[in-house]
Amino acid sequence: MHILVLNCGSSSLRADIIDDDDGGVLGSVKVSGLADDDERASLSVSPPDEAGATHQERLDVDDHRNAIAAALDRLLNDEIVDRLDAVGHRVVHGGEAFTHPVEINADVESTIESLSELAPLHNPHNLTGIRTAGERLPGLPQFAVFDTGFHGTLPSRARNYAIPSEVSERHGIRRFGFHGISHEFVASRAAAYLETDVRNLRLISCHLGNGCSVSAVEYGSSVETSMGMTPMEGLVMGTRSGDIDPGAILHLLRQDGWDVERVDRLLNEESGLAGVSGVSNDLRDIQRLAADGDEDARMAIQVFSHRVRKYIGAYAAVMGGADAIVLTGGIGENSALMRHRVGQRLEFLGAQLDEDLNRDAIVDDDTPVCDVSSPTSRCKLLVVQTDEQRAIAQKVAHLLREHHRPAAQEATIPIAVSARHCHLTQETVEELFGEGYELTPRNPLSQPEQFAAEETVRVVGPGGVLEKVRILGPTRDYNQVEVARTDEFKLGIDAPVRMSGDIDQSAGVTLEGDAGQVTLSEGLICAWRHIHMTPADAERFGVEHRDVVEVAVNTDERDLIFGDVIIRVSEDYRLEMHIDTDEANAANLARRSEGMLVDSGSLGRLNRRKTNFS
Ligand code: AMP
Repeated sequence: MHILVLNCGSSSLRADIIDDDDGGVLGSVKVSGLADDDERASLSVSPPDEAGATHQERLDVDDHRNAIAAALDRLLNDEIVDRLDAVGHRVVHGGEAFTHPVEINADVESTIESLSELAPLHNPHNLTGIRTAGERLPGLPQFAVFDTGFHGTLPSRARNYAIPSEVSERHGIRRFGFHGISHEFVASRAAAYLETDVRNLRLISCHLGNGCSVSAVEYGSSVETSMGMTPMEGLVMGTRSGDIDPGAILHLLRQDGWDVERVDRLLNEESGLAGVSGVSNDLRDIQRLAADGDEDARMAIQVFSHRVRKYIGAYAAVMGGADAIVLTGGIGENSALMRHRVGQRLEFLGAQLDEDLNRDAIVDDDTPVCDVSSPTSRCKLLVVQTDEQRAIAQKVAHLLREHHRPAAQEATIPIAVSARHCHLTQETVEELFGEGYELTPRNPLSQPEQFAAEETVRVVGPGGVLEKVRILGPTRDYNQVEVARTDEFKLGIDAPVRMSGDIDQSAGVTLEGDAGQVTLSEGLICAWRHIHMTPADAERFGVEHRDVVEVAVNTDERDLIFGDVIIRVSEDYRLEMHIDTDEANAANLARRSEGMLVDSGSLGRLNRRKTNFS
């Protein structure tokens, strides 16, 4: 598939035609200097031009629209237009409305426009790109891929600022995160390099370019990121300050000569590497000066690298560890010095930089990933080439393919409601009921060889007790207690939403039986709703193991679509969706209810989720 990818920034734009099948770039145009009033923008064109080589030209345009039109003129000819399948646009802010790429229509366009208030420097230019491409290529589908989208999975504890909800809701003050296209892309590149699925990894992705951000990518989902409501929070950047005490801003605003515009300029354009070094926002200049002994340049490097390391430590704590740290962006990919500084004293995390590998690391299209950690490093340090244009092309091609998928089968899926229950080891059974004790089967369950036992336990938390919690047999090689959210409130414990078996670092709890009690350090989870199916069922529904789907249930008065339903495929399963009592009650589900897979293209089927079960 051939995708035209347009990335219209505030002062530059880039258009590429990418062949998603072989990753080739058929043509590329870059325009820079668009925001500069004094100078004409300049344009550089890579093939296709007659000579086949990149050439530069001065561009006589006075606004973004003309620049985009000029860039498209250089890039497109009749033959190329005929081969194009779609246009993909990078759109910076998707707000609450868009957490996934979408095909652009009038509604999508007006929503992007309404989000311009949140990203005044970007969304208006993205819209100009959409409209100009629409005029030039009428009838070709256009898609928007959002920089905020990947961070749609931020849990509310990471999304919220600690201000009254009345204020945050009225003014839309919350954390969104940016650079999502890059973080997601390098996370999957890192996973491919490590020969595993991104859903098996906890990654700390550091995008260090002119703009900089870190993201904690836990089992494929962004769970923390350093940019917030705007791209100003977090790391030190080329000209942006990143984190600063809000009190310092208030203090400045109270001084003579400082108003909002002045402070905005200070924090957005005059700070960061440029501000601290006093000379340049380009790390290459700063490194040269630092090598010559310039104190301000040295300080700029120190403040920058210190901040990155601080976030790495914080995000390792957020995820309870990290399997790899990814360094990308112009600085992450090219500055061995900055990588050396960032990679210091991370041994506590199991991450050890190999200085020789670091010095020699060069990433390019042929070698997009370099491991710069020592062989014994438990947590890998990886330099990964990012490529937002290619990432957008991949997403658009994926959406196009999804459009052509056969509609999901109209078959229904039986739904079983699980009350709170536990699975125990034989050892725990004996501690609770006495030495040599065996569970007594009471009735068989729908999944082969599973049974509900006669025995129950008391589940005890700091806030309360759940009586008569059924044990399911046979015994397993780990202890797991599955409760609903309401049960968690009663127990006074926050348990993570997990797949059965994924109990690493879940919540602890105490169990009491007839003969004793056991305190588990982990094992309490809120079960992640899921569908068991055989490989034949999976084929019939057009899904795969670990896909995440939406299921619609049609009930009296409380129709509901369950999102985030994970597919589990095994020859040993019988087709059945499992939900807990809270979920069933929310939909007024009767016994023997059924659901149907929602066929909503890619929106209904995410291919990544936080899981490390196999
Ligand atoms: P990006 O926004 O990802 O294109 O990154 C641009 C920034 O990367 C530039 O402003 C430089 O600070 C930095 N950069 C690019 N190449 C190098 C290099 N060889 N050494 C140090 N920094 C570099």
